[in-house]
Amino acid sequence: MYNPRSMKATEFIDHQEILDTLAYADAHKDDLQLVDAILEKAKDCKGLSHREASVLLACENETRLQRMYDLAKEIKLRFYGNRIVLFAPLYLSNYCVNGCVYCPYHAKNKHIGRKKLTQEEVAREVIALQDMGHKRLAIEAGEDPKNNPIEYILECIKTIYSIHHKNGDIRRVNVNIAATTVEEYRMLKEAGIGTYILFQETYHKESYEQLHPTGPKHNYDYHTEAMDRAMEGGIDDVGLGVLFGLERYRYEFAGLLMHAEHLEAVHGVGPHTISVPRVKHADDIDPSAFDNGISDDTFAKICALIRIAVPYTGMIISTREGQTVRERVLPLGVSQISGGSRTSVGGYEEEERPTDTEQFDVSDQRTLDEVVRWLMELGYIPSFCTACYRESRTGDRFMSLCKSGQIQNCCHPNALMTLKEYLMDYAAPETKAIGEALIQAELQNIPKDKVREICADHLQKIEQGIRD
Ligand code: SAM
Repeated sequence: MYNPRSMKATEFIDHQEILDTLAYADAHKDDLQLVDAILEKAKDCKGLSHREASVLLACENETRLQRMYDLAKEIKLRFYGNRIVLFAPLYLSNYCVNGCVYCPYHAKNKHIGRKKLTQEEVAREVIALQDMGHKRLAIEAGEDPKNNPIEYILECIKTIYSIHHKNGDIRRVNVNIAATTVEEYRMLKEAGIGTYILFQETYHKESYEQLHPTGPKHNYDYHTEAMDRAMEGGIDDVGLGVLFGLERYRYEFAGLLMHAEHLEAVHGVGPHTISVPRVKHADDIDPSAFDNGISDDTFAKICALIRIAVPYTGMIISTREGQTVRERVLPLGVSQISGGSRTSVGGYEEEERPTDTEQFDVSDQRTLDEVVRWLMELGYIPSFCTACYRESRTGDRFMSLCKSGQIQNCCHPNALMTLKEYLMDYAAPETKAIGEALIQAELQNIPKDKVREICADHLQKIEQGIRD
């Protein structure tokens, strides 16, 4: 029997166990009694094991599928309400020594210009992002010890936090850089990062090694154990993800959940977020070269089952997905989306959307204001909240808030207040009108009288120009 506590990630996320899980799921996918029992268990919102969730993923019974979607929606509403947190990626450098075959930043690509932002350029990008209304960034960089050493990343983080421009400080910097050492994770923690994000790309070791033929990223074990080192270095919010399309999705789904189980068992806290990127066209990358692309239906099912299997883990959808798919998966459990994104180095400063150094084609090309308006028209509250992070409510402290159900008394008012700031400082008149009406209606949904009064008072102060 597996004991995840005593194992390394690479030992726990075991190839044979994944194969056995898939065989078990195949054998039981039509066992509707078992499927119903798993769905019944999932209603307790305590999550599911990778085996249980894999049975649901394999099950194709239409009524059960509908129940999975209904349950995912219920769980999403219960823990995350109708709030959607907004962020933007900031590409610092596309220098990269790796050979990842799906990524246009791979070292052999001579088509794209290589670029690394200077600190002045970082500042200009940050101002452009602040002028849109962003408060939360995810910094991105290729892996290149000479061009993008940890000192460069730390300097960029310092610059980002130091820009006080109009009303718009960036309050949370999440970091998506290559796997590194405990010591460097500690430095990132000390620099005040939010979540450390690292996509596994694939949990299938053999495929992983083929997809990453050269460079430090070739080392599967080092990559897969990165989150353990990050946690050892003091980072308690980590973000997992798989790049769907590279390997068979059911294999990846089981691996992803095993990774979450491992983190929870060993470190006492599961992943803060899970991302579900799909391979996109990019410079010299043709997604159809990878055999395992998934349909929108399968994508939606995966999102719903992640919500059911790990109810306390946030889910992120980037602008790799267009408006229609985003609209479909938002109610199934998504808690964060990017908006107004540019995936090129230095892209926010440019008038026109640049394509020369893009990491992948952006499907959702709307402005942040358009995304904010669209969310509100769909009945969501766009949130720019970063309060948990600023009050050190990370890792297991965030999880207990989530589990206690107090999010409605805490995140809901914060979302309304940060939306109010956005409306006052950045929104177009039409967005503002929709938002003001939404805030008034949503104020009534704060359960505690006292909290509602405090929130109303803060909203008034924001109206008068006072900012947090
Ligand atoms: N260099 C860092 C690393 O190795 O993990 C992370 C930064 S990279 C900019 C962020 C992520 O973009 C990668 O982990 C990968 O999953 C994703 N990515 C790369 N090529 C892509 C493509 N063609 N389409 C969609 N996503 C892609």
